[in-house]
Amino acid sequence: MAVKEILLLGNPSLRQKSDRVDNFKNADVHQTVNDLQDTLNDFRKQNGFGRGISAPQIGVPSRIIFIDVEKPIALINPEIIESSNEMMILWDDCFSFPDIMVKVKRNKEIKVRYRDVNQDEQIISANGSLSELLQHEIDHLDGILAIDHAVDSKHIILKTEYQKYHSIRNVSPHPF
Ligand SMILES: [Zn+2]
Repeated sequence: MAVKEILLLGNPSLRQKSDRVDNFKNADVHQTVNDLQDTLNDFRKQNGFGRGISAPQIGVPSRIIFIDVEKPIALINPEIIESSNEMMILWDDCFSFPDIMVKVKRNKEIKVRYRDVNQDEQIISANGSLSELLQHEIDHLDGILAIDHAVDSKHIILKTEYQKYHSIRNVSPHPF
């Protein structure tokens, strides 16, 4: 069990591009996957939200993300290979700025190719909130944060105020 410290907005490491994983036999890859899972579970226990995390958020500059929606999945070297032209607008948050909500614009549907921990190639198709989650986490690998996708500066707000003025989470007044 290794719960890692999550880097916060302003830490320059969050803005760096992460390296591809080439050597899957390297024990560090498996260690990072385990640490991401432990850190995600711990964050969720403490904060009541959280579906995904990326290696750079725990200070490891490798192209690894870990999501836990219906089941836990580690995605290594994930790449978006298809994106719908159709966009969606929705509220997003991030472990690296847990007190902030930002309204972002994302592709509604995407297809992602990645390697699993056994180095086998996998493809995942996602739409809606899973699509948003994958785009969010893959962005972290390129040093891009959700605030960079804000629809405008008025839609970067404190979570306390979001909770006062928006009763249902992640429901956009705009049609997808
Ligand atoms: Zn994030």
